Order: sequence, then C-alpha cells, then structure tokens
Amino acid sequence: MQFASRLDNVETSAIRELFKLLGKPGIISFAGGFPDSAMFDVEGLKDASQKALTEEAGGALQYGATEGYEPLRNQLSSFMKTKGVDPSGLIVTTGSQQALDLLGKTMISPGDKVIVEGPTFLATIQCFRLYGAQLISAPIDANGVKTDELEKLIAEHKPKFVYLIPTFGNPSGAMLSLERRKKVLELAVKYQTLIVEDDPYGDLYFGEAPPPSIMSLSKDVPGSRELLAHCGSLSKVLSPGLRIGWMIAPPELLAKATMCKQFSDAHTSTFAQATAAQYLKSGRMPGTLAHVREVYGQRAQAMGAALTRELGDAVSFTQPNGGLFFWARLTGANGKLADANELAKRAIEKLVAFVPGAPFFAEKPDVATLRLSFATADIEKIEEGVKRLGQAL
Ligand code: PMP
Repeated sequence: MQFASRLDNVETSAIRELFKLLGKPGIISFAGGFPDSAMFDVEGLKDASQKALTEEAGGALQYGATEGYEPLRNQLSSFMKTKGVDPSGLIVTTGSQQALDLLGKTMISPGDKVIVEGPTFLATIQCFRLYGAQLISAPIDANGVKTDELEKLIAEHKPKFVYLIPTFGNPSGAMLSLERRKKVLELAVKYQTLIVEDDPYGDLYFGEAPPPSIMSLSKDVPGSRELLAHCGSLSKVLSPGLRIGWMIAPPELLAKATMCKQFSDAHTSTFAQATAAQYLKSGRMPGTLAHVREVYGQRAQAMGAALTRELGDAVSFTQPNGGLFFWARLTGANGKLADANELAKRAIEKLVAFVPGAPFFAEKPDVATLRLSFATADIEKIEEGVKRLGQAL
C-alpha cells in the first residue's frame, strides 16, 4: 500500500517492541509508563459513574461540546485555580496526549523546528515528527533543561515552540528549578517563542511540593502568559483509562486546536467527562492524591536504595522527588556494561525489564541511559528486580 508520506518520518516505538517480551512468566517489569492499577479509586469512580448516569444521563450519554463538558471544565478550572493558574478558556482533551497532537496539528508545518528536552517523552517525539517537525534537543541535568543552552538553541534555530516537561519529566524524573522556570518565561518573552508545558506528573510529588508550574509563574513575567500552553492530565493520579486531559493556551491557539479536535474526535467521551466531574465534585481527590504520593514515594525510596546497594558505582542517578521514573546512566565502572540496549537483553534473560534510554533522545542518543519505573511493582518486587538487574550487568 502507498501510505502517506508523513509516515516516512516515524517508526513504531522501540518500547512497544520491548513490551512484546513482557508477557514472559515471572518477569518483573520496570518498563511500563503507567500507574499501578491497584491504586485506582474504584469505589470512588463507581460512585461517580453511577451519579453521572442517575443525575445527568442526558448529558453524559449525548454528544457534547468540543471544548468539553461544562461541569468538568468548571471542576478542572477550580483545580487549576488552586494551583495558581488562571484557567481561562481551558478545553478538555482525550488524554493530554491529544493536547500534544492538537498542538502538533495546529502549530507544525513540515520542516518547522521544535525544541524538546534531551531526553523527552517518546510519544511526543513521534507525534511532532508525524507533522514534519525537525526536533532540536536541549540538554538537561537534575534541575531540568539547562536554560543557558536553551537560550543559545532558541537564538540559533528560532523554533516554532519549545516543549518541556518541567516537573518530574518522563523519562528524566528531573524537576526544573524555580530559577530556571523564571528564566524560561523570560526567554519566551525575549524571543517571542511559544513554550508548551506538559505537566501530567506535577501532583505526584513525594515530599515537598515542586515549584509552581511555569504557567502559574507567568503572572510575574509581563507578556509571558500569551506565549504559554499548559497540558494537564488525570491519567497518572486517577486513571489513564478515563482519557481525561486538558489544555490551557492563548485564545487564538485554543480556537484552532478546538477546530482540529472537532475533525478528530468531535469531543472527549461525555460519559468519561461526567464521571470525572462527579469524582472531582465528590471531594475524594485530595485523599487519592495523598495515597498515590505515599505509595509511589515509598517505592521510589526502595528503588533508589536497591540501585545503590545492588549496582553501586556501575550506575549513576538522581533520586526523583516525584513522578514515576528513575533515569539512570551506566558508568561502565569496573568493566561493567555501559550499553543499556545490551543490558536490556541480558536483563530479560534474568526476568527483569526496563526501557533503554536511547529512543527518548530526538538527537544524539545516549546509549548508556535507561528508564526504570517504580510504579507498578511492590517493594519486594522492586528489590528482587533490581537485584536481578545487578546480576545482568
Ligand atoms: N505527557 C507525558 C510526559 C507523559 O508521560 C504522558 C503519559 N505517559 C502523557 C503526556 C500522556 O498522558 P495521557 O494522554 O494519558 O494524559
């Protein structure tokens, strides 16, 4: 078959290929990018969906507005206000993944340059490439994107926009410092560049809350708000199956994105939206957040301790303070492996899986890197899995 030429730039994700091996009996997987299904507040969601059907069946089962179901838009707007964000114009999307797709669709013409972090979310790389973007990779450290390097790249490439996951990034787990957040806003204004803040993990912190979102900080930097888009999601804290995400952006951009969404899925499932709205209204969210923060926090601690114990100086990493991931680098110390692709193969033999880091780089892949999720295995499995990893090295 003669497929559209836009597909020439993308290939199926290396991660998906790896997932085929995860069915092996006895395997401990640190490979997934999803939350633990045992953490879903099933009772709360049962109540919420019941209420959606008894109190508002007409709306919950009917076609709805492309911008989103009004009760959910109101609930999400209140949620964002509690986080210091002016949610004007917020639209509901089918997961934040759709928000990224709509941004690609509305902003990227073939050949346009987009700056992303190196490493960044794999599905974003693929989505933006599908629209013909030329991706430029900005280096990061434990404090997120290096803003001095970012400035040089913006000045040189004049990108269509900059895409960042500033809080507990996937895969990096890094948290952009307050100082750098402010710098990003200044860069937006100085170079009149759109900044996209993808924030599905910001509520998933383990100790102290992270600095306010870039969008919330835009109040302090005149002229920056018009240059920001912010994507949020209920996937990591409540349920990815609901497919509820949202986007806040300048009105002109939101209008175009809404138009594109109309051609794409008309609207996000009204039943899912009504359920999510009822859930947020029920007041259970703070309890749910406290629970996921505690459990994932313990798992992250356990994984950090196990990595230090079992892999020692063969690996370097920064302990994440939130999110779902450890981002680690093989050092090659004492003749141990420094290639994560090779380690992934050996690890599967030892019945433990993780994702090699190279595919997360839009440019200049670092083959020594790897991503380990601590979300879906309990502490005992984490300890056993990391031990197996140490044996595979
Ligand atoms: N952005 C990032 C950084 C992610 O890690 C994910 C999920 N893995 C998404 C967006 C998409 O999430 P969802 O569509 O479920 O909201």
